[in-house]
Amino acid sequence: TEPLLEIRDLSVDYGYDENAVTALSNVNLTLHRGEILGLAGESGCGKSTLAYAATRLLPPPGVITGGEVMFTSSRGGGSGDLLRMSDKQLRAQRWRDTAIVFQGSMNALNPVYRVGKQLMDGIAAHEKIPRKAMRERAAELLTMVGISADRLDSYPHQLSGGMRQRVMIAMALALEPELVIMDEPTTALDVVMQRQIVEQIIELKDELGFSVIFITHDVSLLIELADRIAIMYAGEIVEDAGSREVYHEPRHPYTAGLLHSFPPLRGPKRELGGIPGSPPDLLSLPSGCRFRTRCPYAFGACARVVPQLGDTLYGDDEAHRGVACHLHDATIDGPSVPPELAV
Ligand code: SF4
Ligand code: MG
Repeated sequence: TEPLLEIRDLSVDYGYDENAVTALSNVNLTLHRGEILGLAGESGCGKSTLAYAATRLLPPPGVITGGEVMFTSSRGGGSGDLLRMSDKQLRAQRWRDTAIVFQGSMNALNPVYRVGKQLMDGIAAHEKIPRKAMRERAAELLTMVGISADRLDSYPHQLSGGMRQRVMIAMALALEPELVIMDEPTTALDVVMQRQIVEQIIELKDELGFSVIFITHDVSLLIELADRIAIMYAGEIVEDAGSREVYHEPRHPYTAGLLHSFPPLRGPKRELGGIPGSPPDLLSLPSGCRFRTRCPYAFGACARVVPQLGDTLYGDDEAHRGVACHLHDATIDGPSVPPELAV
């Protein structure tokens, strides 16, 4: 399928001049049309920064310092480098083509208004249609996310957390976006509710054909949801592959550690703890590989050479798999690939 979003060498700082901290370094990533792309990594690794910078929604003090983001709308208009569009072009593009479901957004519903009114206000902000048609559209949206239309007259407190989060998803879909960014949309919910919402998102995506960037610290949630997963560490993508490959054959030591450190999808939660240590301070990053201070496989070259994501590609569809680790780079002298990280 053709790309919807092509992110090339995207870099972001927080702050200016001598106070600037590099939050994203030369990130390359492609989102294909109709695809669910998962972004995973520990908090502070830059996954939200990446999603918001790529759609020009990054709040200050975030500053995009380089790169390009080619957006190809299938609806004509709105295509081009998002980083170089005028504010006017962006405004037109943004509400039509991109919607966001934020973390904890279920609490963004206004407690004093009925759910139906809030959905209708959302529609009315962008479309001038008669009130009756608007109410029908609101009912349709609610039904779409699995909530009975008679809930239009409910107040937010009369709905469960999961239902309120579904209302927020309905609101995001009201404008028929081509791209939906979901930033930890299910983090506040229990596991059963999370799974129901994840299933709903897959159904809606298949029906409506939008693309999704799904951000989470819980990589296990992505295994069934995402088509592809990009694993981030300290402002870089360290592994980018199909979700099945990531799950069954992680190649990057960090990916393998993340998979072991998260609780299973089903069954009781257990304590995290697969990867000792914590991510490096962005103000004083280690030389070479940023993961080397926590990596059980680190060797000489890891301190000297920065591993590149694109250097190591595998298999028949080799263009679709990248691992930024010297263990997998034949041009770097070092130990052979340990069996647990091999094909
Ligand atoms: Fe570990 Fe070296 Fe690979 Fe980095 S490059 S993940 S330190 S083996
Ligand atoms: Mg975040």
